Parts: sequence; structure tokens; C-alpha cells
Amino acid sequence: MQIPLVDLKAQYELIGHEIEDKIRAVFKKCDFILGEELALFEKEFAEFCQVSFAIGVGSGSDALYLALHAVGVGPGDEVITQANTFIATLLAISRLGAKVVLVDINPYTYTINTEQIKQVITDRTKAIIPVHLYGQPANMAPILEIADKYRCWVIEDACQAHGAEYKGRRVGSIGHLGCFSFYPGKNLGAMGDGGMIVTNDSKMAEKIKMLRNYGQKEKYIHQVQGFNSRLDTLQAAVLRVKLKYLEKWNELRKNHADYYKEILADTEVVLPSEMAFVKHVYHLFVVRVRNRSSVQKYLASKGIVTGIHYPIPVHLADAYKSLNLQSGSFPITEQYSQAILSLPMYPELTANQISYIVDSLKEIHHG
Ligand SMILES: *Cc1c(COP(=O)(O)O)cnc(C)c1O
Repeated sequence: MQIPLVDLKAQYELIGHEIEDKIRAVFKKCDFILGEELALFEKEFAEFCQVSFAIGVGSGSDALYLALHAVGVGPGDEVITQANTFIATLLAISRLGAKVVLVDINPYTYTINTEQIKQVITDRTKAIIPVHLYGQPANMAPILEIADKYRCWVIEDACQAHGAEYKGRRVGSIGHLGCFSFYPGKNLGAMGDGGMIVTNDSKMAEKIKMLRNYGQKEKYIHQVQGFNSRLDTLQAAVLRVKLKYLEKWNELRKNHADYYKEILADTEVVLPSEMAFVKHVYHLFVVRVRNRSSVQKYLASKGIVTGIHYPIPVHLADAYKSLNLQSGSFPITEQYSQAILSLPMYPELTANQISYIVDSLKEIHHG
């Protein structure tokens, strides 16, 4: 059996025809930039996220960058986020010349440690970026409370959590701004790069619309120095087709996670835990194992592809040497980076495949 980490081909087999029809329609219409399908997708994605506005941009990285830019983050400002995240969260902060301030993760949920935010927040803190890592929402209530006290912005990195919920509210709608990626492997993935910013703040929405389109309010009326970062009409057309299935796909991911947990329950494999009052959308199914490299090799020998999200904590990456953070700075993130293992997770995964993965895991990782 060959089991990939993510199976985009299986998805394409199911909905490929529908997507090709949509793409052909855009080809005929030729409204490639800021076209009709984009406007429709923005409207539908805003509804999906329970917000008033959604603005399509070039990528999840650009979504984070433009959101931070819109709230005025710049040199001299500090932005707090977590050490266990994909590096793009940090790159958005650095690109604006602001200071990255990191905290560790909660050991049970892998999301930002809210107690530590209180220890590092200052008058210079302009924004907090909680990351809804692996598809589980961060614990937003204490974050909103402290952000309110320090009057800073809360920008959700929801790039791994399309459709996840916190206390009945969709991620992206809880902070001031929410950022999504449509990188192909995400729960809602384009056929290329793409991203979205969602918000209920009409002023921010206006500003971001300008920023993504050369800073122009109308054609050739340039109000600010903007950028070129728009979600392609073609990608929006693809994403509109997929959005119809997202709820169902997220349910399937959750079912697969429950099945994994059920049949791994009597082993020493450490399973992901869900906070009460959240809906987790299992972008990734991350466990912790002993002797990870031999486990990973053994699984590979059985045709099972696994991943590590992430093997080198961002503060220890060469790219962030300038933060001057030694190993030992964030013990949970660092310790987990040695043990975490992402097992195959995608909607089209079958119960047979999951039991094969778990049987193989049990052969090497004795419980
Ligand atoms: C994927 C991802 C991003 C970046 O999105 P791109 O579309 O690849 O630029 C940012 N943050 C997190 C947590 C991600 O998983």
C-alpha cells in the first residue's frame, strides 16, 4: 500500500470535471484580475467565516503581511506569536521591520501559551498573532482580554484552520482580522498560491482592498503606496467549487482523527487533544512518538509518508539568528520538535488505510 501525507490527486478525481468547467468559463470571459468569480468567492467565503468582509490576496503570507500593514505595524513595534509555527507567520512581521516576540505553546493543544503572552506584552506590542495550529483554534478568550487591555490588534493566523470554530464562532471572525492561505495542501486549497483576509471592520477592509491593488481607490487614484497581491480569478473559480465541499471534507477529517485515536488508544503514541468548546478541523494529525526517525523510516518502508511540522523551531532557524534566542528558550516547542510526527490526513483517506498505518505504527512503536 502507498499512502501519501496528503492526496490531492484523489480529490481531483472526485471534482476535476466540475473544476475544469469553471476554469473554461473564466478562460472564455478573460476577466483574469479582480473578476466576477473573485467577487463571488469573497462573498461566499465571508459568509462561511461569519464575517462581513473577505479580501482575496496573493497568498497566506501576503494576507498576514497586508493585515499587519493595514493596522499600522512598522519599525519599533512588537508583534507576539508562538515559537511552534510555520515560518511564514514570522516573515510577515519581519518584512514590516517590526520585532518578532515569541512565546512557547500550550503543551496539550500546541497553540499559543496565553499565560506567557502576559509576560512579554509591552506598550510597544502592536499585535498578537495566535496561530490555529494543525486546525485547532487557539484559546481566544484570554488573548482578546489581554489585547483589549493593551489596546493591541489580534490577527488570527487561520492558514491551517478553514472552518474551525471556537465557542461556536468561526476562526477568522474572532480577532480583528483573520488570515487564510489557499496553498494546495491546506483544508481549502487552490491550484497554486492564494490567500484571504477576513474582517468585520469596514475601514480595514477598504484599506486592504487598496493595499492589494497598487494602493488605488479607483483606477489611477493612488491614495497609498500599495502592492500587487490579488487572488487570481481562476483560483477563485477553483476555490468556489471546493468551498461547497469544505464542510463535508472537514467532517471526514474529524472522523479519521476519531478513528486514529480509537485504535491508537492503547499505545504509547501521544495523541492530539481537543480543547472543550472548539471544533478542530484536523489540517494535520500530529502525534508524538519515541525514536521518531526510526518510526518514520519504518513507516516509509511500508509505503506510508509522514511529515514533521516543524522539525526546526523558528527561533533556531538560521534565518532568525538575529533574534538571539538560544536553545532552551522555548522548552515545549523544542522538546516536541524532536517527537512530533504528522500521520497521513486528508478527506479521501479510508478506514483501511488508517488501520494499515496504525498496525504498522504498532509494529515499530510498542505500546
Ligand atoms: C501555510 C501557512 C502560512 C503561509 O501561507 P502561504 O499561502 O503558503 O503563504 C502561514 N501560516 C501558517 C500557519 C501556515 O500553515
